[in-house]
Amino acid sequence: MDENMNREQMIAWETQYESGVYTKQPIMLVRGEGARVWDADGTEYIDCVGGHGASNLGHAHPAVVAAVTAQAQRMFLSPNGFYNDQRAELLKELVRIAPQGIERAFLCNSGTEAVEAALKFARLATKRVKLVSTMRAFHGRTMGALSMTWNKDYRQPFEPLIPDVAFVPYGKLDRLAKVVDDQTAGVILEVVQGEGGVNPGDGDYLQAVQAMCRERGALFIVDEVQTGFGRTGKLFASEHYDLHPDLMCVAKSIAGGLPMGATLIGARVGEIPKKTHGNTFGGNPLTCAAALATIHTLESEHLPERAAKLGTRLITGFASINSSIIREVRGLGLMVGIELKTQSGQYLAALAEQGVLALPAGGTVMRFLPPLVISEADIETVIEKVTSVLTVMD
Ligand SMILES: *Cc1c(COP(=O)(O)O)cnc(C)c1O
Repeated sequence: MDENMNREQMIAWETQYESGVYTKQPIMLVRGEGARVWDADGTEYIDCVGGHGASNLGHAHPAVVAAVTAQAQRMFLSPNGFYNDQRAELLKELVRIAPQGIERAFLCNSGTEAVEAALKFARLATKRVKLVSTMRAFHGRTMGALSMTWNKDYRQPFEPLIPDVAFVPYGKLDRLAKVVDDQTAGVILEVVQGEGGVNPGDGDYLQAVQAMCRERGALFIVDEVQTGFGRTGKLFASEHYDLHPDLMCVAKSIAGGLPMGATLIGARVGEIPKKTHGNTFGGNPLTCAAALATIHTLESEHLPERAAKLGTRLITGFASINSSIIREVRGLGLMVGIELKTQSGQYLAALAEQGVLALPAGGTVMRFLPPLVISEADIETVIEKVTSVLTVMD
């Protein structure tokens, strides 16, 4: 195969010419179908990286391929100063599927941009400056979103970041109560912390945060960039706990694997003045068509329900592994983590050698975000391979 002939050359070029910010596995992925991906040398893998949560529909889903192919022949880009049919329909559909209270949306191209817009809208709406985030939170890497991100390795090289941001322990309401005051524009959190180690939030805590925000005039901002679009067993993780965010950030799987983000806007935000924000590629017809196909497929193939069922099986399977290096297995739907008592890197590498790709979350957690279309047989294979890696190397 041609791809194979060029494999070493491509790896050399990417090593030489890429900025250098990424740690890479010695694998070159060139093709995907459903929950399977292939290296240029033909090696097949079960994909539990799932584009870090951007591939809920799996690779090359026929409905997304068809929608993108058809739209590509009509129009890629229609500036936001004009109307467009695909954009109009997507906006209507996003508001239809979003938690009750969401009325409008701002479209962009990534998770970090969805967070940036939420922070700006929160300041505009409240005329307040202070923001509150949580320890272990991940909200993105641009300067505003980075200011809400906890990991000091990501933050420190770029300080000073935006001022007046407080971090409180995730799950501790009393600590939050001490920092939210009449100058707080918003509180941002994830329903399940992803990058920070797959930490599912407690329903009572999340509802109490929402109530405190309402009471003290701060906006309740929920980052569903990773948990959205079926991942946790509901279309949005907010639905598990009857959460109604004032601002909700989504991205990753919104467009079946194509780049898109959105900031969903609730009634408490009020009117957003013209010219206060904007985006060139946001809401382009090509990704809007992909997102429409994604939403319809999530519904017609009942993928949130599938994530709930297969996620329960994955968690049960991992929990039954008898290994002294496992500290805890936790997750919600098909967002599953195994916390080890040691660094996860060598175990993830060993797992890749067994044909299963997964990703880290923090230093010690193995994270599994398979496409929601993954087969039951592949779930069993994943459990089998993880068992073998965590017991042989025990
Ligand atoms: C991935 C992620 C982001 C950032 O998304 P990008 O598209 O990489 O900018 C923000 N918040 C959460 C919860 C994420 O998982």
